[in-house]
Amino acid sequence: MPDLWLYDRMSRIGNLSYRFKIMLVAFVGIHVPLIAVVLYIAALNADHWGQFVETVGVTLGATLLGTALTLFVLNKLLSPVLLTAQALEGFRLDRSLGQLPRHYTDEAGRLMACAGETIDHLEATLDRLEHVDEATGLPNRKQLLMTLSETIADHAAVALTVVRFADYARLKEAYGNGIAEQAMGFLARRIGTFVAEGKILARAGRAELTILGTTTDEPEAQAALAFRLRDVIKSASGEFALGAIVLQPTLQCGLAFYPADGASAEELLDAAAAAATQSVPTAPLVLHSAAATRAAQSRFELEHDLRRALPEGQLDLHYQPIVDLADQRVIGAEALLRWRHPERGMVSPGEFIPIAEATDLIQPIGLWVLSRACMQIRDWSQSELGDIRLAVNLSARQFLDKDLVPHVRDAIDAAGISPDRLEIELTETAAMADHAHTRRVFTAFRDLGVGIALDDFGTGYASMSYLRKLPFNKLKIDREFVSNVDTLGESQAICDALIALSRGLGINVLAEGAEREEEVRHLLSRGCSTFQGYYFSRPVPADELARAVGIAQLRMLRHQMERVERAQFGAPGRQGRRA
Ligand code: C2E
Ligand code: MG
Ligand code: MG
Repeated sequence: MPDLWLYDRMSRIGNLSYRFKIMLVAFVGIHVPLIAVVLYIAALNADHWGQFVETVGVTLGATLLGTALTLFVLNKLLSPVLLTAQALEGFRLDRSLGQLPRHYTDEAGRLMACAGETIDHLEATLDRLEHVDEATGLPNRKQLLMTLSETIADHAAVALTVVRFADYARLKEAYGNGIAEQAMGFLARRIGTFVAEGKILARAGRAELTILGTTTDEPEAQAALAFRLRDVIKSASGEFALGAIVLQPTLQCGLAFYPADGASAEELLDAAAAAATQSVPTAPLVLHSAAATRAAQSRFELEHDLRRALPEGQLDLHYQPIVDLADQRVIGAEALLRWRHPERGMVSPGEFIPIAEATDLIQPIGLWVLSRACMQIRDWSQSELGDIRLAVNLSARQFLDKDLVPHVRDAIDAAGISPDRLEIELTETAAMADHAHTRRVFTAFRDLGVGIALDDFGTGYASMSYLRKLPFNKLKIDREFVSNVDTLGESQAICDALIALSRGLGINVLAEGAEREEEVRHLLSRGCSTFQGYYFSRPVPADELARAVGIAQLRMLRHQMERVERAQFGAPGRQGRRA
């Protein structure tokens, strides 16, 4: 430790700056001996007064000038010390990061570099202590609230989940803070692996982790999110070991939505935390708002009931005829899944297929549909309906099943039907998800002899160059464009384009959801002659299909008569049309 006695003495001299004191010492150090020498010489030559004054004057003048220059340079050389002092002071006062140079190697340079590095290090440590939780490495409550406020400002709807580790306090009491914190760290890592990209995981309290994400304000979307979260909690609740301690964590989960459950970051966090404390082991996820709770509850119940639907025979297939007005005949039907729920009545596939898709239920349900449809084709082939072609829908997830083609082959073989009686329907969106996979599976279906239709066409983003290379037989124009096509210019343009596209690709085109005669007439005049829709028949149970086909045929007959009438007498009158 260098001796500070002189510095100590000087520091007691008045309210002077360190720089001034150094200058004073330099000044005095130079001038006191000099004045003494000058006075001594002057005393020796006291007889020559004129010479005395001149000697003193010149000497003092020259020295003053030299000293001024020396003090100026000294003052500049003191800058590293002064800069370092300013930087440290600035950081202490308002955490400002002064720019101290790092590249000098002498003592003063090292002073600046070391001080600069120390300040940076301090800043990083303080920042971590202020915004990051040490045990989990996640953003802490302060950081979460900041991010949450920014997210709220940027998005219309935000979802915040609080996952409470209910065993935290008990664990801390029994094994100490270290183990409880280790458990939090483990859970944070585990939950992190289940949380989708784009979501922010944080630690909002001693025993609370949060998941922050954006959503929409539709109850359905919020219920779907709750659905996924419940799976996350289920997966995260598995047993884990910390040394000799084996833990089966109890996780309580609360979900709150902005703006419905809180207008600010704090309110939203409180709402989610409050919901979490209400959860119980049988219902580990609680939603803050009543509407969202009801929607999620209904979805959970539906999933629960759907597990029983297949073994208890509540699922059935209905069939909707497909007619070809060019050939004047019913060329096939589409199999549409129906769920007769014991309490809710008929549940639409639009409601339960997404639930089946989100769980493992789509697999057995899909297999059942395939096998049921093939059996139905066999039964009809022995009835008055004869050889009918039946279309079966595949969901996106079913389509990704690597055993799909063997499953289809097995269903065909088990029913003993000809493969060309079966047609597979896949939505345009599902077909475009993985081009290589789609091409592989479509080629396998084609080799098998099974037909392929692209469903709900026009609603996805099919790439034309890719479509050209894809082996499929039919394009089904989505109902959205067929509905009121006779009056809507935009729908007419889209249908015209899709009809031209099918013609160019050499495949069949079908208009879905035709409900009115005018729609049928318009599309027929544009070159689309295959239809499916309520105008001809609604989907009906298997034993009613023959009757539905008869009614559809009557409608076709009426069309034919009108055409003849038109050819002979021009446009039919109202009377004629009703006949
Ligand atoms: P999709 O394959 O496009 O089936 C056509 C839907 O339009 C059916 O609805 C049908 O009842 C309805 N529809 C037919 N004509 C008309 C009409 O003129 N007007 C109106 N408003 N609607 C008409 P559904 O039966 O509710 O099925 C909805 C969707 O559920 C289907 O759309 C299909 O994507 C899916 N789906 C149905 N059955 C199955 C199945 O067995 N497996 C899978 N994975 N999905 C299925
Ligand atoms: Mg379909
Ligand atoms: Mg469709």
